[in-house]
Amino acid sequence: MKRLFNTRKVNLATLLTFLVSASVILTLLILTISTYHSNKESLMTTYLSLNYSKAEKMSNSVESLFGSMRTNLESTVDFLEEHEEMSDQEIHEQLELLRKSSSYFNSLSWVDETGLVRTISPVSIGLKGTKITSGVTKDVLDAKKPMLTTPYIGPSNRLLVLMSQPIFSKDGTYRGIISGSIYLQEQNALNHILGNDAAEKNGSYYFVVGPEGTLLFHPERKLIGENVYKNPVVQKLTHGKSGMELVTNTKGIPMLAAYSYVPEAGWGVVQQIPYSYVHSLLVDQLQNLLVNVLLPFLILLLLSIFIARKLAKPFIYLADLANRLAEGKDVSQSLKNTLRQSHWNREADLLTKSFAHALELLEKNTQKLTQSALTDSLTGLPNRRKLEEILNTWSSDGRHFSLLVLDIDHFKSINDTYGHQMGDETLKTLAETIQAITRNNDYCFRYGGEEFVLLLLDTNAAGAYKVAEKIRQKIEKTMVIPGRTITVSLGISEFPKHTNSVQELFELADKALYESKLGGRNRITISPAPQPEIQYGIYKSN
Ligand code: GH3
Ligand code: MG
Ligand code: MG
Repeated sequence: MKRLFNTRKVNLATLLTFLVSASVILTLLILTISTYHSNKESLMTTYLSLNYSKAEKMSNSVESLFGSMRTNLESTVDFLEEHEEMSDQEIHEQLELLRKSSSYFNSLSWVDETGLVRTISPVSIGLKGTKITSGVTKDVLDAKKPMLTTPYIGPSNRLLVLMSQPIFSKDGTYRGIISGSIYLQEQNALNHILGNDAAEKNGSYYFVVGPEGTLLFHPERKLIGENVYKNPVVQKLTHGKSGMELVTNTKGIPMLAAYSYVPEAGWGVVQQIPYSYVHSLLVDQLQNLLVNVLLPFLILLLLSIFIARKLAKPFIYLADLANRLAEGKDVSQSLKNTLRQSHWNREADLLTKSFAHALELLEKNTQKLTQSALTDSLTGLPNRRKLEEILNTWSSDGRHFSLLVLDIDHFKSINDTYGHQMGDETLKTLAETIQAITRNNDYCFRYGGEEFVLLLLDTNAAGAYKVAEKIRQKIEKTMVIPGRTITVSLGISEFPKHTNSVQELFELADKALYESKLGGRNRITISPAPQPEIQYGIYKSN
């Protein structure tokens, strides 16, 4: 039983503290994780959209630049076609004018239908008079239509693109091409547009790729001309697509990239920012969040633990009380305390009060049961068990007292004459009569059958004799049954005068009673003090 109670179990307060702490910490964790995810989503969307609008703006600028360049080239060609008579020198001056009036082209040339470079501006390039028989310029010449080449390395070892416009005489004879070259790594209108804020402090930058994935512009100039077709967004651009996505670039760095296609040139603009930047923003946001919510959460946690412990307290108290009760310990004082306690928690209050009331009831019932176990049901007098209890107490306390044994004379004849029920009534009347005569601190017991015992505290045998005599006389005169009286015989012994053994005290009183019976009944006998030598002699002689 005890082992069962002592087995290791989790304490309610510990359990509640754990539950409360776990839920508060989990809430904080969920809040942090969900904030991280939603912020990540929104930051990524924001940066991708921002990149896309930048890329689109750039591609529109490039597109309109190419449009203007084409218009310029066309109007120069128109002018030259209308003035067929112009000499090579005049045409050169026209091209020179065109080149200087805008920074669209790094060089402008007229290559006639035979491939001869008739004029070139600036002259410093030194190709005037040379004959072109192969290469990109030859292909463009043979095409006899407006063209924009893919980037290529020109004769002067520069990376360039060529924008060309065919020129015809009024009778429709082909006179070659007027072409403008745009050096991708040198100053011109295109590089002016592209070169502005190419890279930002937060790591955001853009680059431009040609139709085959060649870098036409990059903030790191040395990369221009390199092929980056491996980059997934470049592949999409070469297929004429625009869009945005998280992509790993050719250097293996995750990037939030937006890409916009330039239809006029078949080029693509990619605006991108390293994902690590967005991640660092996220970490900052989370740190801020934690700094702001940690204190309120800590207060919430402590408050919850405090309340949980307060909630658990009455239940723990009751459990301990019940345990002590089960172990047979006295809980009456704790019970009184419990009854006085009032709890703000309804269930705890109900349980405490009900528990205390139940225990009180149990105690009362136990008392009643104990009382009835010690009481004779017929006469209401304490019984033999109670007698033994008091005798033991008094004797061990060394008290002085007398013991009287009383037996009804010829009681059998009452039963026989009037019936058993009347016999019972007689016993009740006798009990009442004796009680009426004895003092408050004297005890009267029904010893069994029609035998009664009296204990008279601080009374010697002589005093007891007087009481016995009063009883005897009173009974003698009492009509226990209409028209019928009874008599009683008594025996008296005194403690510790006659003996200091309780058992022997009884034997002496019994013997004295027997003497009364022998002597003719309706009388009282005081036991003589035992005389060991004589008794020993009698015993020996037997
Ligand atoms: P004596 O003078 O020798 O004591 O004679 P007696 O008849 O009283 O003695 P005995 O002990 O032989 O008889 C006692 C009787 O008391 C026997 C029994 O019928 C009766 N008796 C014992 N207890 C009760 C009881 O509770 N109610 C009733 N009505 N009679 C009882
Ligand atoms: Mg008897
Ligand atoms: Mg009798």
